[in-house]
Amino acid sequence: MGRAFVYVILGGGVAAGYAAHEFVKRGVSHGELCIISEEPVAPYERPALSKGYLLPEDPARLPAFHCCVGTNEERLTPKWYKEHGIELVLGTRVKSADVRRKTLLTATGETITYKILIVATGARALKLEEFGVSGSDADGVCYLRDLADANRLVNVMQSSSGGNAVVIGGGYIGMECAASLVINNINVTMVFPEAHCMARLFTPKIASYYEEFYKSKGVQFVKGTVLTSFDFDSDQKVTAVNLRDGTKLPADMVIVGIGIRPNTSLFEGQLTLEKGGIKVNGRMQSSNNSVYAVGDVATFPVKIFSETRRLEHVDFARKAARHAVAAIMEPEKTTEFDYLPFFYSRVFTLSWQFYGDNTGDVVHFGDFSGNRFGAYWVNKGQVVGSFLEGGTKEEYEAIAKITRLKPAIEDLVDLEKQGLGFALTL
Ligand code: FAD
Ligand code: NAD
Repeated sequence: MGRAFVYVILGGGVAAGYAAHEFVKRGVSHGELCIISEEPVAPYERPALSKGYLLPEDPARLPAFHCCVGTNEERLTPKWYKEHGIELVLGTRVKSADVRRKTLLTATGETITYKILIVATGARALKLEEFGVSGSDADGVCYLRDLADANRLVNVMQSSSGGNAVVIGGGYIGMECAASLVINNINVTMVFPEAHCMARLFTPKIASYYEEFYKSKGVQFVKGTVLTSFDFDSDQKVTAVNLRDGTKLPADMVIVGIGIRPNTSLFEGQLTLEKGGIKVNGRMQSSNNSVYAVGDVATFPVKIFSETRRLEHVDFARKAARHAVAAIMEPEKTTEFDYLPFFYSRVFTLSWQFYGDNTGDVVHFGDFSGNRFGAYWVNKGQVVGSFLEGGTKEEYEAIAKITRLKPAIEDLVDLEKQGLGFALTL
């Protein structure tokens, strides 16, 4: 049993949705394109799951956040795929791939053949078991990667109202979920091993601003330690979290956000891997000419920094997906991908954006006791990264622009004095 398509997108997340949109814009014919996804729903904007989806009132629900509403474009509902002759094979896991034969074998036993494959399998949440702690499947312990996780989290939050939550991890999931828990009237303690939150990106000074803001909302921080075990009641429901330093934190629920691992296993030994992802060139093409990779699973050349990186952010997933489709459909018109890394988050009333790279010396600016401040990173005499909290659209555009331009900086003190004005006047 099997079907054959010209183009197959493996994975049905953010990158898949944006790739499908681009295929249609570039005139793909009916019956040529197929998307295979383990998830039971058409591609959606995953960032909604830790934000609007968790609101106690008027929460975001599908179909409202199918791709491509995240970039204010048309919403790709299942009807849209049907109207454009795109086959959506949902709720179906691909269990093996053969890039030499150009086939994918699904868990339902179907062999799907492609001429061109776009791998958009994203990533999976790391489990506590991988750090030697058991209990991930227990009642009250939540992860957040897909819609099923989000539905479970909403149910657990509703039954924990007024109670205590422990958030494990001080990264994106930890910070965004902690804010959502507070909004849902749950007492939150965050636990993470680093000295401050968002250690991969924030400076201690930036982190301190957010930690103080969270504390003003009642969030407590336990830093520099990790959990070693859970306590459970007789129904195997979590009741407490035990930390390495001996502390026991009572818990009606736990959210774990301790990082991700890209879903590359189908291609190990078949495609070149690097930095944990599938290595692609500036056309998002892997070591096999017929296979492209985009989104969280791809390690690509960041032209502006002359090195390869894997990025775990939605803007990259969207743009890389569009770029891969352009390279496939109009190869001669498509140049090398030239992407400026862009990350953002929104929590409570706060909102920040970051562009570029956080290496080198840091110059902070603005009002850290108010609500508009930022930082530049200066490496080898050039601005390589910019961060801004509380900016306007024009201000965010300005910091993006200077990061792309990489202006030379002679005097860090002067840059600090100019602050945001430096980006606005350049
Ligand atoms: P995904 O969107 O994860 O999609 C992968 C798809 O592949 C899934 O549908 C999965 O089921 C499917 N799949 C995997 N393996 C198989 C298989 N073997 N067979 C069939 N299907 C398979 N980034 C930001 O920049 N800003 C944000 O605010 C933000 N918020 C986020 C909030 C949450 C809760 C999460 C989890 C992530 C967030 N991100 C955010 C990150 C962003 O969502 C990801 O970078 C983006 O989704 C990556 O897109 P992708 O298509 O590569 O992977
Ligand atoms: P992350 O990499 O942002 O943070 C992981 C955190 O786990 C670290 O900060 C650390 O504090 C913690 N940690 C690591 N090992 C630990 C251990 N043994 N015990 C306790 N804590 C430990 O990953 P995440 O927060 O899990 O996010 C998952 C993915 O979702 C990432 O790809 C992220 O980019 C994406 N995401 C992005 C956004 C956004 O861009 N706004 C929002 C939500 C999720």
